[in-house]
Amino acid sequence: MSDSDLSRRGFLQHSLAAVGPMVAATTLPIPDVHSNAAQAPLSVVCVGGHPDDPESGCGGTLARYAAAGHVVRIVYLTRGERGIEGKSLEDAAHIRTLEAEAACVVLGATPVFFGQVDGATEVTKPHIANMTKLLGDAKPDIVFLHWPVDTHMDHQAASLIGLRACMALRTPSVFFFEVNAGSQTNLFRPDTYVDISSVVEKKKAALLAHTSQDGAAIWRAHHEPMANWRGRESGALAAEGFVRLPRAEAADRLPGA
Ligand SMILES: [Zn+2]
Repeated sequence: MSDSDLSRRGFLQHSLAAVGPMVAATTLPIPDVHSNAAQAPLSVVCVGGHPDDPESGCGGTLARYAAAGHVVRIVYLTRGERGIEGKSLEDAAHIRTLEAEAACVVLGATPVFFGQVDGATEVTKPHIANMTKLLGDAKPDIVFLHWPVDTHMDHQAASLIGLRACMALRTPSVFFFEVNAGSQTNLFRPDTYVDISSVVEKKKAALLAHTSQDGAAIWRAHHEPMANWRGRESGALAAEGFVRLPRAEAADRLPGA
């Protein structure tokens, strides 16, 4: 069968029909505040290990929430202090803070810097208490966290600290995201997708704001193929994939649904 015989969407539908109820993947709804006066703005928070992680893992989704009128905050556990060769921790932190702030402008998010140090992150009760206070003040409806099976310990620390805070706060909706799939995030099997085809250029621009990290190379090597791959899985041109943490508090309701 040639490509012209079978569209991507058609292929997906055939595939889903073939495997039936085994497929539990769903699409995360993003309600529009502007066109629906009854829709209150949601509080959306993403916690990432370093500047560029939230942009990589869910930059498209965050851009869509912001554009739909929701309040989006990005918490950076560190300022990426060890991410620029030849620079002091202080100088690198300064450069990467500016890059993160520029990326947040692109996405429509507010940056928050948690204050740990790149390469020296710790999962301690005081840090968990601080994150619980920070998230508690934000009253999040939805939290995005690193998937904890990851080769970078800072990503794992951000995931666990965020998860402990969400459990303490009984945050209704928690979703795990992936970064540099296969090289950093591992064993990730999405069950929820967001179509990012309308905001791919925004996501790319947010990554490119991280000049010191060669965001263009990271985009080409990792996040462009990942967006295409998750798109094929979900019937979109480009998508981000997530693993949803099932919470009794939210039953089966997705945020905004
Ligand atoms: Zn990172």
